[in-house]
Amino acid sequence: LSEKLQSTLKNLTGKGRLTEKDIDAAMREVKLALLEADVNFKVVKQFVKTVKERSIGSDVMESLTPGQQVIKIVNEELTSMMGTGESQLELKSRPGIIMMCGLQGAGKTTTSAKLAKHLKKKGKKPLLVACDVYRPAAIKQLQVVGSQVEVEVFTLGDKVNPVDIAKAGVEYAKKNGLDTVLLDTAGRLHIDEALMEELQKIVQEVSPEEILLVLDAMTGQDAVNVADTFDDQLKLTGVVLTKLDGDTRGGAALSIRAVTEVPIKFIAMGEKLDQIEVFHPDRMASRILGMGDVLSLIEKAQANVDEQKAKELEAKLRNQTFTLDDFLDQMEQMRNLGPLDELLGMIPGMDSKALKGVSLDNKEFAHVEAIIKSMTRQEREKPEIIDMSRRKRIAKGSGTSPVEVNRLLKQFKDIKKMMKQFGAMGKQMKKRKMRL
Ligand code: GDP
Ligand code: MG
Repeated sequence: LSEKLQSTLKNLTGKGRLTEKDIDAAMREVKLALLEADVNFKVVKQFVKTVKERSIGSDVMESLTPGQQVIKIVNEELTSMMGTGESQLELKSRPGIIMMCGLQGAGKTTTSAKLAKHLKKKGKKPLLVACDVYRPAAIKQLQVVGSQVEVEVFTLGDKVNPVDIAKAGVEYAKKNGLDTVLLDTAGRLHIDEALMEELQKIVQEVSPEEILLVLDAMTGQDAVNVADTFDDQLKLTGVVLTKLDGDTRGGAALSIRAVTEVPIKFIAMGEKLDQIEVFHPDRMASRILGMGDVLSLIEKAQANVDEQKAKELEAKLRNQTFTLDDFLDQMEQMRNLGPLDELLGMIPGMDSKALKGVSLDNKEFAHVEAIIKSMTRQEREKPEIIDMSRRKRIAKGSGTSPVEVNRLLKQFKDIKKMMKQFGAMGKQMKKRKMRL
């Protein structure tokens, strides 16, 4: 009988360990998902290796299939690969200077205005500076979006060198009590030397604390090369990934981080000027995996003990009679499962309110353990024989008091009875007020 109980509890605490076969099967799907999401092939390969190493031999959580367990690990690894949390803007000087750079059409101008709005909401006083003197109507465009977010736009027209415009813009901000300067620079269709040189000169002259690369997420693999080159030439402090409102799964985010180690700081998901968000690695991970259903299932499994399993437990317990040894075993297993009241509360017919306070912390458990271990085998199997003198001996041996020994014996008796009459238990529990 006790063996049966043990195996039930084993089912509850896990399905054993992940085998190589489990992992390979799940990794095939993961690989596909990542490649479909446009993650760089080399990155996928390295990633799969890391996950495999971590997965082999790891425990499978209760109520997850081995496949789901692998996905859980994959999701955690993806998340940690993209950073441990939010990466904030680092602006300490006054004014703090942000230089936006990137290819033409990536969304620099739009994102500059979005960031200005974002900063304004945080109580900053931003200034937009029009450094794109090449693209026709670039200045006008910045003025339009600037007025939409109600942020001043500084311009010297398109006849002045962008480096001088940047310098003058910073001076203007200083004089007018504006604390953050956003430099909207020009882009090219392709990376070229003239573009890089101009940006490097701006960096030399005004030393921006933030150099943000604006990247179109829809360009997928190409985005990684662009990020790599810009980082080489300018030492980027962050990336803004735009156009994530399309059906791109955002695999670029993973590749960019893996290849350049530059943190992604914001993501943009639309043309409207409030469609910008601080980047969250965990959300991006589930987007890249494209396994939202599986992931939410895993989340639920983490929070709950499977109801089906609880029913099985009930069926087993209904027929149990067990010894103090089993009791101790079970306590230990239960302790690993989490709060006892939550677990029992899931069993149909149990009144979870009646179980309030039925939990076992480590100290209490140590007492229970010491008392039971101080008993002879005979005593553990037949607690009825424990009389006054035996009680005293057990108390002494366990460093407790006869009263405590007595209480444990009473609890054990109660639980045994409770298990026999499992069906009617809900009502009885209320009267009994079990304390462990
Ligand atoms: P720039 O050349 O880098 O300054 O890019 P722009 O800011 O002018 O943006 C180019 C185009 O992309 C414009 O039509 C924008 O409206 C559009 N755009 C910018 N960001 C996003 C975004 O997050 N989602 C979508 N769908 N379009 C965007
Ligand atoms: Mg522009």
